[in-house]
Amino acid sequence: MAKRRSPVKSIETGGCHVPALRPPGERMNSESTDGLVRWRASRSSDVLVIGGGVIGMACAHYLAQAGRAVRLIEQERIGAGASHGNCGLVVVSYLLPMCAPGVVQKEISGLLRTSSPLYVKPALDVSLLIWLLRFAGMCREGHLRHAIPARAALLGSSDGLFQELFRDHGLEGEYERRGVLIVCRGEKAMRAYEAKNDRLRPFGHAAEPLVGKALQAAEPALREDVFGAWHHRTDSHLRPDRLLQSWKQVLTRSGVTIEEGCRLVGFRRAGDRIAAAVTNRAEFEAREVVLAAGAWSAPVAAQLKLRLPLQPGKGYSMTMTRPAVCPRIPCSFSERRVVATPWPSGYRLGGTMEFSGFAAPPDPRRFAALTAAAADYLREPVGSAVVEEWTGLRPMTFDDLPLIGPAPGFRNLWVATGHGMLGITAAPATGKLVQEMICGQTPHIDPSPFRVGRR
Ligand SMILES: Cc1cc2nc3c(=O)[nH]c(=O)nc-3n(C[C@H](O)[C@H](O)[C@H](O)COP(=O)(O)OP(=O)(O)OC[C@H]3O[C@@H](n4cnc5c(N)ncnc54)[C@H](O)[C@@H]3O)c2cc1C
Repeated sequence: MAKRRSPVKSIETGGCHVPALRPPGERMNSESTDGLVRWRASRSSDVLVIGGGVIGMACAHYLAQAGRAVRLIEQERIGAGASHGNCGLVVVSYLLPMCAPGVVQKEISGLLRTSSPLYVKPALDVSLLIWLLRFAGMCREGHLRHAIPARAALLGSSDGLFQELFRDHGLEGEYERRGVLIVCRGEKAMRAYEAKNDRLRPFGHAAEPLVGKALQAAEPALREDVFGAWHHRTDSHLRPDRLLQSWKQVLTRSGVTIEEGCRLVGFRRAGDRIAAAVTNRAEFEAREVVLAAGAWSAPVAAQLKLRLPLQPGKGYSMTMTRPAVCPRIPCSFSERRVVATPWPSGYRLGGTMEFSGFAAPPDPRRFAALTAAAADYLREPVGSAVVEEWTGLRPMTFDDLPLIGPAPGFRNLWVATGHGMLGITAAPATGKLVQEMICGQTPHIDPSPFRVGRR
């Protein structure tokens, strides 16, 4: 379960000494007899990545591939945050941002209902209020025209990179390309999706409509009274916890130093540089620092007086043994916004978006809502044994575009967060983009829509 973290502390020392680090890629002199040099060697790296979720792992991967000495710190275990129990969809077709024309009007009546898939806990939280107002301001056609191509570039790049990672880099995670079904219980939802689908056509991600016998043939696990589905064939799925464990092994083999149980508690600054990250274990110096702490990136950045426009968006999932009649293709239940993902090793139901801050405990009614939703669409909605009930915090931005790039006001701080509902899908392209920016290479996609200081 996601737990509350107490805020980090910033340690400001002003113009402190920045040690001379070795040039990128050059190996440490392990023969050195100088104790101070050895001490520094063990605690310094070219790049320090904060956060062992899928985004931090992807950044570490591409930086190590580019010859950088990388250290990654994670306060718990690798993949302990949102990257653990999510639905594992690699949804390259998910080009439409959450903020779209009509969303506010459509959702407003359900926002305060605890059974609603989108829920805002009533509270006097000024930062949440500001975030919601900014979100509402983005629900316009102009933002769609800006966000769709930006998401298409990021997700399309990730798709190719994922295939390369599984094929050539030894990554594992039950990765399969069977597409995703947007399942509509009623005709109204089926028709409503058509307009969204049309917007995906120019990017090659339009889905094929399936009804009647064609639907039953494609996915016999669906109930016969389900009206239809849209099949996005370009999507894939994987098992996120297995992906992260496999990635940990791959990174360790590539020489990345992974420190688990290592919690960032503050920073030592030298003017506009981060001189060191202060953790519960030691101070770590690095030439460059990547902040990839998911939803917690906002409280971490606040210690540097850097405001990241993020809110934690809580989601729920239940992992089970496979039902006897298990879906073959991952299904997204359109009217209920719940996803069912099948893997050879199990089955998961996941969904809901709850804006209730970091501290609110999980609401048991939401787990029940997942199984109730699945029962509306599937012949066998649950497996015989529940393996895990889980909640995770998505790092949500007000415009549903991630924050990737240099942190304003700092020469060696980079941000890679805010991936909302798409962190698994967008991870490889994000990692590659961060590597290219840090190494001074031409980015393979336009990073400007993801600029950190955008208003
Ligand atoms: C129910 C649900 C379903 C989802 N389904 C999908 C899906 O199907 N497809 C998809 O693409 N995305 C999906 N997502 C979104 C996806 O899970 C997230 O976008 C993604 O996991 C975010 O990754 P991250 O690395 O940024 O954050 P996280 O995975 O949260 O990682 C951040 C890490 O930083 C660590 N950390 C925090 N503070 C510190 C500190 N001070 N010091 C050291 N370490 C620290 C945390 O412990 C954590 O491990 C889903 C999310 C949820 C909740």
